[in-house]
Amino acid sequence: MLIGAMNHPANEVVDEIEWMAAMGLEFVDLTLEPPVAASWRIDPHAVRQALEKFGMKVVGHTAFYLPMGSAIEELRRASVCELRRCLEMFAIIGARWMNLHPDRHAPMHDRGFFIEQNIRTFQELMPDARRLGVGLMIENLPGDYNTAPQLGELLDPLPELGLHLDIGHANLLVPQNSTEEILTAYGSRLRHVHLHDNKGGHADLHLPLGAGTNDIRSAIHALRKCNYDGTITLEVFSPQKEYLLLSRDLLRRWWAEA
Ligand SMILES: [Zn+2]
Repeated sequence: MLIGAMNHPANEVVDEIEWMAAMGLEFVDLTLEPPVAASWRIDPHAVRQALEKFGMKVVGHTAFYLPMGSAIEELRRASVCELRRCLEMFAIIGARWMNLHPDRHAPMHDRGFFIEQNIRTFQELMPDARRLGVGLMIENLPGDYNTAPQLGELLDPLPELGLHLDIGHANLLVPQNSTEEILTAYGSRLRHVHLHDNKGGHADLHLPLGAGTNDIRSAIHALRKCNYDGTITLEVFSPQKEYLLLSRDLLRRWWAEA
């Protein structure tokens, strides 16, 4: 199991890699988002060099707000363009997987409509993903994509699509954390994990581990039960980096105990 963190999109990527390496983190969850870490602004060769210098691995992350399910076809196609550019950048940088945040912003349309629009987007990206050797995976999101049946609407028609499980999101807007349910159904397709704490409800607080009510130890147990041994990003967002270190130590301890 490898522990990593996400770069802040308002900072230079290479600077972010440097502090993560100094902290002993093992990979970068590289989000390509404006203003500074935009897919059209970064130097992918410099990023790759920095990763090699520090011996760090990388997982690809994209903006969470792309209108890939939009009812306006031109907007949906624009999100395909942006995601293609991200795939090309990640291929140079050396990422093997890139995440996608399924979209649902199609007011006045039923669920079937935006599910179809998302699937169309993923299908259009698949040939590029194959050609570049960067797999696509979807992240569970509170609300419309946070249970096994909801994710199945996207995962079942597209067997190549991987699962990116966010254990913080799995605790939001659900009667109980959906981690175990999702892993029971799709654990064999798990490619990457996000971990952070919150207090349930709707607020995606991205707290340090142990600071909220998310049952993270049970979630770690469920990960180990399905033999997961890949990348885990601590999505703990605080200017105080000590919270990240504390969360890393807790994750290592709970992982060993599970
Ligand atoms: Zn996440």
